[in-house]
Amino acid sequence: NFTLNSKDYMDYIVAVNQELNEKEEYITNLDLATGDGDHWANLHMGFTKLTEEKERLEAMDLSSELKEIGKIMMAVIGGSSGVLYGSAYLHASKVMKDKEAIHKEELFEILNAMLNAIMERGQAKPGFKTMIDSLYPAVEAYKATLEEGASVEELCKRVAAAAEKGAEETRNMESIKGRATYQSNKGMGHLDPGAVTMALQIKVLMNKALE
Ligand code: ADP
Ligand code: MG
Ligand code: MG
Repeated sequence: NFTLNSKDYMDYIVAVNQELNEKEEYITNLDLATGDGDHWANLHMGFTKLTEEKERLEAMDLSSELKEIGKIMMAVIGGSSGVLYGSAYLHASKVMKDKEAIHKEELFEILNAMLNAIMERGQAKPGFKTMIDSLYPAVEAYKATLEEGASVEELCKRVAAAAEKGAEETRNMESIKGRATYQSNKGMGHLDPGAVTMALQIKVLMNKALE
């Protein structure tokens, strides 16, 4: 079916919040190993605030909703990820201007806009051991699968798998941006927390799209 409206998008946000709540220790430990240990807490504050604002946000059209999500993320999440997610959502909002629903083409445009916003804002590229390393392969897989004309089931499966594989590959990367660059071994041997939580969001999003 694959159509997301404003309410579906907030249902997705709430689902991410739940999934994050189950992974507090795991994600906190990832950021303790290569950063300052607050990545889970930062995202938790943002997604909890968004969950509290669900009714207000889902009453908006998608473009306004995504913009408001971005503003809340920028204000509440803090850390590097707050600014990066904030810009990602502000750019995604522009994609949905005058559009009523997110179909598979729009979701591609949203993810691609988020990727470009994060790369620009963070001055980072794939291979720098950041959240980009799960989003970039997901966008690439999305594009390839769309062009192939595969089923939406196949599309969602491949995009989520590409994000997960991308996150896994950060384990053997040396950090070029973010706090892991301050580690003597540049975070080698550890997963990047931001790449892991990005993959988690992509997985939940693709599942939501299939519902
Ligand atoms: P902080 O590092 O300020 O404590 P968080 O812990 O919330 O912020 O987020 C850290 C994550 O942000 C990293 O794991 C990485 O994925 C991502 N990140 C950090 N700097 C950048 C950047 N310049 N570009 C893209 N992503 C980045
Ligand atoms: Mg941190
Ligand atoms: Mg911090």
